[in-house]
Amino acid sequence: MALPQYIKVSQGLARSEQYAGEVDPQQLLRLRLELAGPSQGMQVSLGLVRDAIGNWLRGELRGSLDLQCSRCEAVFAWPLKVDVDLRLVRSEAEAKQVLQDADPYQVDDDRLPLVEVVEDEVLLALPMLPRCQACEQAAADAPEPAPAVKAKKPNPFAQLKKELK
Ligand SMILES: [Zn+2]
Repeated sequence: MALPQYIKVSQGLARSEQYAGEVDPQQLLRLRLELAGPSQGMQVSLGLVRDAIGNWLRGELRGSLDLQCSRCEAVFAWPLKVDVDLRLVRSEAEAKQVLQDADPYQVDDDRLPLVEVVEDEVLLALPMLPRCQACEQAAADAPEPAPAVKAKKPNPFAQLKKELK
């Protein structure tokens, strides 16, 4: 089942709608740039929830994405596992209010771009420096040497101040 591109939030909340389906990562243009090749689909399972605190988009994203190892350049299957828990807010002010306790997501005109939100969440979860299992293991076995202590350089402004005196 394909995921709806957009959902109507008020209606979805009233019905506690659930959205489950498969998304092809190749269809997500921003995500596609990060991938090493066509990947398996992602399973999306999200739902709208209204509770005593507020309105939420909750669920999970699962799948396997092909990434290129930043160390050995091999292509490997990266297990995608994202738990989504977004507090739906109506304004920037409300977003600021809830920021301490939750991840706010601002809904404009009662419309939520579901697929775009999925893509955002996946992009956030991607590793900055992807590593295949072998390289991950190698890195764990041989911890990186501690960075050499940098020689303390004289502060050029302090030097200038001295000269001006
Ligand atoms: Zn590697």
